[in-house]
Amino acid sequence: MSPSVLTHLECADCGARHDRLALVNLCACGGSLMARYDLHAPRLAALKERLSVREADLWRYAELLPDPGFSISLGEGFTPLIAAQATGRAAGCPGLLIKDESANPTGSFKDRGLSVAVAMAKALGAKAGALPSAGNAGSAAAAFGARARLPIHVFLPADTPRSFFGEVEAFGAVLHKVDGHIGDAGRAMRELLAGEGWFDLSTLKEPYRVEGKKTMGYEVAEQLGWTLPDAVLYPTGGGTGLIGMWKAFEEMETLGWIAPGRRPRMYAVQSQGCAPVVRAFEAGKDRAEPWADPKTAASGIRVPAPFADRLILRILRESGGGAVAVQEGEIAGAAREIARHEGILPAPEGAACLLALSRLLALGAIAPRDRVVLFNTGTGLKYPEALGF
Ligand SMILES: *Cc1c(COP(=O)(O)O)cnc(C)c1O
Repeated sequence: MSPSVLTHLECADCGARHDRLALVNLCACGGSLMARYDLHAPRLAALKERLSVREADLWRYAELLPDPGFSISLGEGFTPLIAAQATGRAAGCPGLLIKDESANPTGSFKDRGLSVAVAMAKALGAKAGALPSAGNAGSAAAAFGARARLPIHVFLPADTPRSFFGEVEAFGAVLHKVDGHIGDAGRAMRELLAGEGWFDLSTLKEPYRVEGKKTMGYEVAEQLGWTLPDAVLYPTGGGTGLIGMWKAFEEMETLGWIAPGRRPRMYAVQSQGCAPVVRAFEAGKDRAEPWADPKTAASGIRVPAPFADRLILRILRESGGGAVAVQEGEIAGAAREIARHEGILPAPEGAACLLALSRLLALGAIAPRDRVVLFNTGTGLKYPEALGF
């Protein structure tokens, strides 16, 4: 019997119900589809207590994920939550914790979403998958495509760090280099997509990447003894992890695993070279205008027009959090500071969150006694240029 209590998919915009066994992208209205579960199912009763003996990957939450019926796990998820006291003390927030996503199989948290999405695409009959990427998502899709025997097409901006090209091809995926940014890569993909019959794995345009990424929310709670931090610092590109974690908090409240009304303040961190979410948040808007000339070495957050802008902005406001743009020129230094203090060589996106922490402390939005979780979303090793090596 399948462990999953998935019941159906639901449109985040219009609420329409969709069959969970369909290979679908968006709702007819254009909204993102969200997986819904029977959170009152009897088999979930003692689940929380049974988790501790399970494998240390994200599939430990199998009941609360879709079930592909086979495993392609490479051990993705259940990454360490590290007390970063030296970094925290230097910044003025000794309770700082780093969720170190560089420990994932291909070196970033993109493995979470793509493990689940690639497995489900294969299970539901896709013949091939395709996605635009700034690098890490392409590597993750290619790796899990190899594992699932699903052909993958990856569309990367031509100025993506070179290591990503080699990695994608090594995993046997088809690499398409596109002039421009990730939005241009997406357009190039869609021109080919329909004719070729590839399944679109773009984030929030299929239901399951967000399910993989929501496990970060479950893990933080489990690792903190079923409590949540005061604040979360999240380098935001497409916003999948932010949306996923918020969904996890909601599910855990319904499950009775965490106390209601204690969710963290969520902070979206972007670079001043590409800050569409920050600009919209500060202007009080509920949609983000596309950023004209996106430039940042933190390529994972070089997303000029996030598809799920409304969901992201709603969560930032509902949580009492906010959005911070950091100085591009300070990112490499922040990365070296985390490296020196903690023995973690962070991705520039993770390093940007340390700059955001200092800013939020100066503004009084974060208090020195707060327990803060900073997401280091990947390894710095794939972006030597960004870190000044
Ligand atoms: C993709 C990516 C991000 C942004 O993640 P979203 O959930 O799409 O906002 C941040 N950091 C790294 C390293 C990434 O690869």
